[in-house]
Amino acid sequence: MTSPTNPYRLARSVVPSAYRIFITPDLDAATFAGRVEIDVDVREPSSLLTLNAIELDMGAATVTAAGTAHRSTDLTIDEEFETATFSFDDVLPEGPAVVEIAFTGVLNDQLHGFYRSTYTDPEGAQHTIATTQFENTDARRAFPCWDEPAFKATFQVNLTVPSHLAAYSNSPETSNVDLGNGQRTVSFAPTMAMSSYLVAFIVGPFGETPAVDVDGVPLRIVYPGDNGHLTGLALEAGAFALRFFSDYFDIPYPGDKLDMVAIPDFTQGAMENLGCITYRVVDLLVDPANASLAEMKRIAKVVSHEVAHMWFGDLVTMEWWEGIWLNEAFASFMEVLCQDAFRPAWKVWVSFGAERDMALEIDGLHATRSMEYEVVSPEDTRGMFDRLTYEKGAAVLRMLEQYLGATTFRDGIRHYLRKHSYSNTRTTDLWDALEEVSGEPVRDVMNTWIYQGGYPLVTLEGGRLSQQPFAYGAPTGPSAIGKDWKVPVRTRSLSGGPTSSHLLGDQPVTVTDEAPVVVNAGGSGYFRSRYGRRELEAIADHIGELEPLERATLVSDSWALLYSSQSTLNEFLAIAKGLGDQDEPTPWGSVATAFNFVNRALDAEQRQRFAAIVREVVGPQLRRLGWDARPSDGELTPQLRAVVIGILGTVGDDPSVKAEAVARFEGNRVTGDLANAVLRVVASQDRPGDYETFYDRYRHATNPQDEQRYLRSLASFHEERVALDALDKCFSEIRSQDASSVIGILCTNAATGPSVWRHMSARWDEALEKFPLNTLSKMALGLPTFIDDVAFADQVEAFHREHSLGGEQKTVEQLIERMRVGLTFAAAVRQQI
Ligand SMILES: [Zn+2]
Repeated sequence: MTSPTNPYRLARSVVPSAYRIFITPDLDAATFAGRVEIDVDVREPSSLLTLNAIELDMGAATVTAAGTAHRSTDLTIDEEFETATFSFDDVLPEGPAVVEIAFTGVLNDQLHGFYRSTYTDPEGAQHTIATTQFENTDARRAFPCWDEPAFKATFQVNLTVPSHLAAYSNSPETSNVDLGNGQRTVSFAPTMAMSSYLVAFIVGPFGETPAVDVDGVPLRIVYPGDNGHLTGLALEAGAFALRFFSDYFDIPYPGDKLDMVAIPDFTQGAMENLGCITYRVVDLLVDPANASLAEMKRIAKVVSHEVAHMWFGDLVTMEWWEGIWLNEAFASFMEVLCQDAFRPAWKVWVSFGAERDMALEIDGLHATRSMEYEVVSPEDTRGMFDRLTYEKGAAVLRMLEQYLGATTFRDGIRHYLRKHSYSNTRTTDLWDALEEVSGEPVRDVMNTWIYQGGYPLVTLEGGRLSQQPFAYGAPTGPSAIGKDWKVPVRTRSLSGGPTSSHLLGDQPVTVTDEAPVVVNAGGSGYFRSRYGRRELEAIADHIGELEPLERATLVSDSWALLYSSQSTLNEFLAIAKGLGDQDEPTPWGSVATAFNFVNRALDAEQRQRFAAIVREVVGPQLRRLGWDARPSDGELTPQLRAVVIGILGTVGDDPSVKAEAVARFEGNRVTGDLANAVLRVVASQDRPGDYETFYDRYRHATNPQDEQRYLRSLASFHEERVALDALDKCFSEIRSQDASSVIGILCTNAATGPSVWRHMSARWDEALEKFPLNTLSKMALGLPTFIDDVAFADQVEAFHREHSLGGEQKTVEQLIERMRVGLTFAAAVRQQI
């Protein structure tokens, strides 16, 4: 199990089995004091004891073995490997022992380890929370431990806190002792055997919903401030997910209770601590009366994702961090499956097509990476929390599920989870389990997707399917794009008949379906498709007959071919015009993306001409849909309406849309599905005083969705004074959890982006100090939009090459390459208007 050559890993000479953790935070002083007692098995007698600890002030360790207490005489801290080694005068004997260490630490502001989060209530009073975030390797900042996923143990947590504050951890409360001094000690039941990165403890002025009994599992939503009225959707989605997964996996929920806790400062979307899932506020709390469908989908999605992890991740866990991609890919796949059952009318597999597209956009770059790669240090895993892990991983699993059949796939997953419960696995264990159940060469197929980057372009021409690697441009250096995937391709004839399945390898295969034929039937394949001239002509008149995801895939593939200069704007416009009157927003989302990029490439005079084209293509949709809800609306119509208004009011420069958006803003009618589009259209008009109003509404928002809408819309103003003010606020008033991404979005502004980037790069060191790790690469989000000035792009590239972000630099390299692809695309498209 140990990798003796990897200095970042601990030896298995001492193995923990049970922790008892005692923590007393001082929220005012932002410090904590603690003590751990750890039951261990000493497997190799030694006078040294090494475990993980960093940023902790520790006393001596006492090891009690065979009735004798051994007290350490020396302590060495290794800052690089984040270990503490205690030395003893005598040898610790083989066999069971108890390790005891007392320590103190600081509640940091870095949003990792045991950290401080704050919020201001509507009366202006500030409140402090102490909370944890341990994945990947930050439990060691809160208590000394064997901080690797393979060292599973039980954790029993005891928190001594001011009596008026609430306290939560992974398990149910077992005792609550009033200490008589304004403090109380809350003790929690021991957890199941699990990894240290899943431990959580949280203290603060929280409210909570009454527990809902979900087939014996108490489920609560825990929230800061007075937000109980925003918990309904999360409760409903959480209860649904608990039942859905207990049934799908055919294994009861592995915890004893489930609390879902909203934390005001949080770097990720959420964290799957067993029984105590933590969330970014906007990903848990919502007022459905004011929310858009997209915002509600987001909450159901994140909740489903985290609940899936209780089994896949928590009950069965990767042996080492290179397996993290499968953990996340699987939860991202299961979240869609669960959401699709929760709200079938949302058609989430179609909206998943848009998320998959974001992965395809990165994975078609030479700077892509293979999904699995060797991980030595924890730093190596920082690059893993990206779209390739989540969206590509989920898409490849979906393709596999469709290939094996949903029931066979599910049975394989059940087999895998049962076989490895409470223990650790490698990626290949899952392929083996699926192979055992299906009899299909799963490992062989999956290896071509896991160990090389990229994906194929599958072409149907002359009745034959063939593959070649897809790339947005020619390589200028080493390329991570592979070749010869084993591609499960499904085709079907639009004239009817069954779907045909092919496993396409390096040799072409013949398709016998009658024309017109859809490649990627059902739309679940992770590849791009291209049709020969005759095949495309055959299908062009039948776009309306495609299934929604097939149609969405056709549009996004057409955009990819245009963006990579493999087709023309006119070819893309023909597809967009062919979309006709349907209510699925996803294809129009791809059209909006494409139109935004084309717009960026053009000069002022060309933009006017292009705006007329946009109005011609999109205008009929707004005339059909109108601004307000209609009895004829489908479930997804409001989302489509928002996409259409957003394009027409910005790139389309439509005066009546701009005027109506302003009227709604002034009449304070900015809610629900149209809110984001209306705010973007209003901001882009740069009316005096609007920026100040937006910022004020952000600061005093009464729900998290409004807060995020106003915050992110700040990037749509075109005045430099305003953009630089917003940038400045990212360094002062805006929460550090949001700062990097707001800066990234500010950089995407066509008028002010380059100026914001220059000022941001001048404050780079300050940003690195202030903003949490794993959010830093978001500051470079604007790079793909810098496509109209080669000299500026050179300057941007040089800067980001010189200022590497370590584990996050891979993401920046991809953004640089996208900028280069965009420059080529822009030069080509300028000739086509
Ligand atoms: Zn996850």
